[in-house]
Amino acid sequence: MTTTNKPASRTAAADKFPNHSPDWRPETTLVHGGTLRSQYGETSEAMFLTQGFVYDNAEQAEARFKQEDPGYQYSRFGNPTVSMFEDRLRLLEGAEDCRATATGMAAVTAAMLSYLKTGDHIVAARALFGSCRYIVETLCPRFGIGCTLIDGADLDQWKAAIQPNTKMFFFETPSNPNLELVDIKAVCAIAKANGILSVVDNVFATPMLQRPLALGADIVVYSTTKHIDGQGRCLGGAVLASAEFISKYVQDWVRQTGPSLSPFNAWVMLKGLETLPIRVKAQCATAARIADHIAGFDIVTRVLYPGRADHPQAALAAAQMPGGGQMIAFEVDGGKAAAFRALNALRLIRISNNLGDAKSLVTHPATTTHFKLNAAQRSELGISDGMIRLSIGLEAADDLADDLTVALTAARN
Ligand SMILES: *Cc1c(COP(=O)(O)O)cnc(C)c1O
Repeated sequence: MTTTNKPASRTAAADKFPNHSPDWRPETTLVHGGTLRSQYGETSEAMFLTQGFVYDNAEQAEARFKQEDPGYQYSRFGNPTVSMFEDRLRLLEGAEDCRATATGMAAVTAAMLSYLKTGDHIVAARALFGSCRYIVETLCPRFGIGCTLIDGADLDQWKAAIQPNTKMFFFETPSNPNLELVDIKAVCAIAKANGILSVVDNVFATPMLQRPLALGADIVVYSTTKHIDGQGRCLGGAVLASAEFISKYVQDWVRQTGPSLSPFNAWVMLKGLETLPIRVKAQCATAARIADHIAGFDIVTRVLYPGRADHPQAALAAAQMPGGGQMIAFEVDGGKAAAFRALNALRLIRISNNLGDAKSLVTHPATTTHFKLNAAQRSELGISDGMIRLSIGLEAADDLADDLTVALTAARN
């Protein structure tokens, strides 16, 4: 079900070869879901690099604008390649509708500002991606939208923070960088009981490992820049929600304010979706192995990986995520100096603040992604000076383990 002015994804052979089926498993949906073939019958998804669309006559143009004739008008409003990507992601997520955006931050902003207005209030878990925290803590209040930041793992704090004007709950799980979990089912139930919409930033878990809508969330947002592209190439984002929420709020926001995904980037994301299941599976297996490897070093005082039995919320992780994910956080004894020695000794894993790439990447959150927070805010989030965040790629696990052995040995002196 889509609510925008997109033509149905059908070709002459559509009845024989449907482009979606409720019986398909996720892997099949990610290869075939939403495919929209042109009259040439191309095998791969066509890339429609066009700004506009022509009409057969003036009557058709009029009908298109009145939304009586299904079809495209202008790529800021919608584009066939972008539609294919939206449909494929929507089918995977089990959402009624999806709107793609230029970046993950455009998706977060669209989900919030298309719906909220002056006088409303958001409750958000304070362990947030840096720019998400800016949106709720700095940008929203400038427009008279209040915000209360809480410890997302504490259900009582969600309840206590609700005000009569609270309209939205927002959280990410696992969180960046410490991989803290929020109990999606429990928090969304609190929201629902109070007429509040819950928005889940599902980037770290990926759509393969966590289904927020099935657990009661109203809206899911992605930075498709991360695992969905998966090879560090293009920026993109998506908002998934009910047909009503997308048509009433998000569609107009994207159409009128313009954070639209480019068709080229949508095509790259479509290619990413095809291989998402095998990449996530491989990365989870490698990450589980690397987390155990890291934990064996004396200098490592703490490993935070949702797939390990010593994760503080291991039971919740097992209930909510069928895999530990590909992010690992760990702490070395010796603070910033030891962490820097470790990072600088790596020869394969590169220092970068990005994540979800085919290449393994490492960052020191206290001096990069979270340097704008003051020391008290960092300690509230458990981000110590010895904390290191690792994004596991597609390299051989043995090569990553060897690189980390060298680095963690070098970190000692
Ligand atoms: C990267 C990221 C974002 C922002 O995505 P962009 O595509 O960089 O705009 C938002 N939330 C989380 C959890 C992220 O990792």
